[in-house]
Formats: sequence, C-alpha cells, structure tokens
Amino acid sequence: MSLSDGYRKLSLWLDTVPGSLDPGEPLAGDADADVAIAGAGYTGLWTAYYLARAEPGLRIAVCEREIAGFGASGRNGGWCSALFPASLGKLERMAGRDAAIAMYRAMQQTVDEVAAAVAADGIDCHWAKGGTVQLARSPAQLDRALEEVAEAREFGFGSADLRLLTAAEAGEIAAASGVLGGTFTPHCAAIHPARLARGLAEAVRRRGVAVYERTPVTQILPGQLVTPAGTVRARHVIRATEGYTPLLPGERRTVVPIYSLMIATEPLPDSAWSQIGLAGRPTFSDLRNLIIYGQRTHDGRFAFGGRGAPYHLGSAVQPSFDREPAVFTALRHTLADLFPVLGDVTVTHSWGGPIGVPRDWCASVGLDRATGVGWAGGYVGDGVATTNLAGRTLADLVLGHDSELTRLPWVGHRSPRWEAEPLRWLGVNAGLQVISWPVCAVQERFAQHPRCCYYHCVSSAPLAQLAEQRTLNPRVRGSSPWRRTRPDLGLYLFRWPRGARFGVMFAPRLLVSPDLVPRAAMADLATARFRPQSVPSRPQHLLRSDPTDGITQREAVPSSPRQPHCL
Ligand SMILES: Cc1cc2nc3c(=O)[nH]c(=O)nc-3n(C[C@H](O)[C@H](O)[C@H](O)COP(=O)(O)OP(=O)(O)OC[C@H]3O[C@@H](n4cnc5c(N)ncnc54)[C@H](O)[C@@H]3O)c2cc1C
Repeated sequence: MSLSDGYRKLSLWLDTVPGSLDPGEPLAGDADADVAIAGAGYTGLWTAYYLARAEPGLRIAVCEREIAGFGASGRNGGWCSALFPASLGKLERMAGRDAAIAMYRAMQQTVDEVAAAVAADGIDCHWAKGGTVQLARSPAQLDRALEEVAEAREFGFGSADLRLLTAAEAGEIAAASGVLGGTFTPHCAAIHPARLARGLAEAVRRRGVAVYERTPVTQILPGQLVTPAGTVRARHVIRATEGYTPLLPGERRTVVPIYSLMIATEPLPDSAWSQIGLAGRPTFSDLRNLIIYGQRTHDGRFAFGGRGAPYHLGSAVQPSFDREPAVFTALRHTLADLFPVLGDVTVTHSWGGPIGVPRDWCASVGLDRATGVGWAGGYVGDGVATTNLAGRTLADLVLGHDSELTRLPWVGHRSPRWEAEPLRWLGVNAGLQVISWPVCAVQERFAQHPRCCYYHCVSSAPLAQLAEQRTLNPRVRGSSPWRRTRPDLGLYLFRWPRGARFGVMFAPRLLVSPDLVPRAAMADLATARFRPQSVPSRPQHLLRSDPTDGITQREAVPSSPRQPHCL
C-alpha cells in the first residue's frame, strides 16, 4: 500500500479529500527561519497563515511528522463551533467575569472568522453554518439543558446565543426517538475537516510558507526545532502538536491523549433524511454524559462520533488505538437508537484520533518572551474553531502586537501537569469509566434483555443526599464546608442494576478530579439508582413553550413503554 493510500484510510474525510495525499518535500538539512512550527494541523497552519498574512516577508517553516492534516485536524467531527472546553464559571474563577464573557464572545466571532478566511482563500470545506441542536431525551438531560441555558443567561448570553427548544421544536430539527426538549445555538458550522486542513496547507504554501512533510521534530528547544534531517533555527518556535505532545521530550505530562472515535454511513437517500431531519446541516448531539456528536455531511452521509475509548499507559499514541471495535459497535447502536431508520444502514468508514486533554481542561496559548518558545493546545475536542483563535493570537504574540486577543484569559495560562504513571492511567481510566459506565456498560450488558432495557436515576438514598451535600455537585454546593476543607476527596455511589448492592468509593482528587468528570455526571452518580425494568413507571417531562420565552415550562407526561439508552 502506498503512503498516500495509507493516509486515505485514516478517516472518511482524508478518504474523500480531493488532490493527492503524497507527502510533500521533507526538510533536507539545516535551515533558518523567523518562525518555526512543529505540527501541520489547524494550530500550526492557522498560525502560519495569519503570520504570513500580516507580514508577507516573514520566513516561516512548518515541520510535520506525516502530512498536513494527519492528526485530529483531518479526522474530527467537523463542528466548527464556539465551544470552549472551560466553562464560563471556571473562566470567571480564573480571570473574572468580564474575561470569561470576552473569551466566549471571541469564540463566537471565531466561527465567522473561519468562514471569512476560507472564503477569502477559496477553501471549499463544505461550510454550512446551521448551528447546533442538542437533544434532551431523559429528565436528567432535560435538567442539563435547563442548567446550560441558565448559566448562559447568568453571563448575559441571550436567546440569540443559546435557547431552549420544546420537544416539538427539537424534534422538527432532528427527529430522534424519545425527544423531550433540547437547546439550539446558531454558533456552529458543519465542515469537511480534511478539506479545511489540506486547503489551509495549500493556502500557506501559496503565501510562501515552507511546509516540510515526513519531518518529525525530535526536540523543541529555544531557537531550534531539531529533526533527524537537520535543525531549523528561528527566533520563535511554536509547539502545535496537540494529542501527540506527550511524545516530545519533557512534555509527557503536559496533556493526556484521549481518543475520540467516529463512524460514517453510506450516503443516505432523501427518503431517510426526510425522516431524520437536520435540514440546513445543523450539527447534532444530545445531553448524555459521554459526549456524542454528529453531522449530516455535504454528500448526505451521517458522520457520528463519541468518546469512550480507553487511555493508554504512559500517554502512548499508536495507530492501532484509532480503532476500538467496542466503541464502534456502541456508536452504531446509539445511532440506530436515536434514528431507527438508520438501523440497517451500511457503515462505510470508522476511525479515530487523539485529542489533547490538559489537567484542568482549560485550553491555552502562549509565548515565552524570554525563550521565544510558544504553544497552543489542550482543546479537549473543541479545537476546530479554537485553533483559529490560537493561530491569530500566536501571530499577535510573535509580532509583539498588544491586542484584544492577547488579553483573553487563556493566553499564558499554564495548566498543571498530569500525575506520574501509573496514577495517571488509573485516574484517567477511572474517570472515563465513571462517565461511560451508565451509557456503555449498562447498555451493552442489558440492551438485549427484555426486562432491562430501561434505567434511570432517582434521588432517594440518604447516602446520595450526603454525597450531594458534600462534594459531588460543586455548582450547587460549591461553598459547602466539605469542599472547603477536603477538596481532595470525591464520593461516588453506584447502584448495580441487579439486586440492591451499593458500591461506594472514595477517590482522591489526585486521581479523578471534578474537572475530569463533568459535574452533571457526578451529580447523576451521586443519586444513581439504576432500575432495570420493562415498563417504566416514572412520569417523564417534556418542554413546552412559554409565550414569554422565559424558561420553557416542564410538563409531566406518561412515559413511553421502551426507551433504552436514555442517559
Ligand atoms: C475523532 C475526533 C473528532 C473531533 N471532533 C471535533 C469537532 O467536531 N469539533 C471540534 O472543535 N474539535 C473536534 N476534535 C478536536 C479537533 O480536531 C482538534 O482539537 C484540532 O484538530 C487540533 O488541531 P491541532 O493542529 O492542534 O492538532 P492536530 O490536528 O492533531 O495536529 C498536530 C499535528 O502535529 C503533528 N506532529 C505531532 N508530533 C510531531 C512531531 N514531533 N514532529 C512533527 N510533527 C508532529 C501530527 O502529525 C499532526 O499532524 C475532534 C478530534 C477527534 C480526534
């Protein structure tokens, strides 16, 4: 198999991107530049793009181990969204309320900046700014929708930024099963990720940037990118290696590589799309704990992804980790559960790739003025638009421009380092298990059982109340004495689906932090009592519109007889 054929197998996107994937010229010997960048994903390429645009005479060199777009940039879900991995509340605690709001507004503007840049440079990345619909399909998810909107309102973001959807409205956009309500934001475009990455590489080459492919950087030093073929000397050197960063010397604990995996169907007939919806190509998700995401592609496929793959000891990154059959199977089941019309559809592609997760889940960008070494990353799977903001910010930092961008709170932020192994392995995988357990394990185990296709969480046990009052829901109980005095402890409650056994685990924050496990997940677990049963007895709720467009009303309705996989 040729190199080019091998690269095409990395994702649907690389398989369908026009043009050759034969690697370009590698570095051949030592070279001098003004700025040298390690990594030709979006981060490295946007940085080169804005530098070259601002100062056409600048000598810029990008060294890429494989080919441009080889990493997550050529494999992602294609959500060019305003999502930022750190919440408004967290940014407020880090840098104050105004800075938090400025960060989120900058992300929204970034989506439009990407649109303008690709239009200006003729990059056809199948841009469709249809927004994002997030569905709520259980009462717990409904609560999350309400919480998200309430937080947005608290920070002054109105219904033009994020709004609740009634069950009818949500179902009209995405006709999934069991929809109770949802949210909608206009700040997202669906794209073909590899077309963007490869198009950007061509655009920077046209502007005189040297992109050396098949050129691995073995060391990043002040003023030098060291490669086996030679050293690129430059006043500024930039690390843009995201999920692969731990492979660099001295960077093993900077981020952990977590794998996100995807599947894509064959192009679907119009008759199927008329049952699914997603007209205008809004990106699509629901509010379960373990993230899922999807888009209707330009050529009519459903591209659908999710987390759940394990973390590998020592932050290892290997091609074989891109493929996790159990996760692909779970994705298929979830997709068919959401849209039964897709039950028998052919899946033509399955793939995955590493994202970079910093210890505090806060992406960052910065430049050490003393050494000239810059970096950007830690996007936790929200990097398609964020890399553009990073590229513009790095360009300003390198050129010494004091701008609105260089004053954003993520600039110069230093995330703590991850723990040494094996603690890192234990902690990260425990966190992944905690998030995915209700979704994957219970579903996988009980989905086939006629009496166990349904489960949900209820708040009842005194222990659950204790947990909630203590530490598990920081948003609600952020100022409890327990959190102040014992922030290093977390409490998890499990009710096993069979019988009435409780598992109670005290986990040091060192291993599983509230940052790693979404708060909502912790709150769910704190109150989790799984009830496998064939006929649910609980009332369900759905959202109905309120004429004042305040918080939409919740209304109890009898539940449907079968709603598996509802968390
Ligand atoms: C399956 C999946 C789905 C995703 N979905 C979305 C989504 O829908 N929306 C969203 O916003 N984000 C999403 N993401 C995340 C997003 O794709 C990334 O955050 C973004 O692409 C990061 O870009 P990057 O340039 O920083 O890193 P990458 O694209 O990973 O690029 C890093 C590059 O550096 C190169 N490199 C690494 N080490 C070296 C070295 N030593 N020497 C030379 N080169 C090196 C790599 O080969 C790679 O090409 C997803 C990620 C994955 C894996």
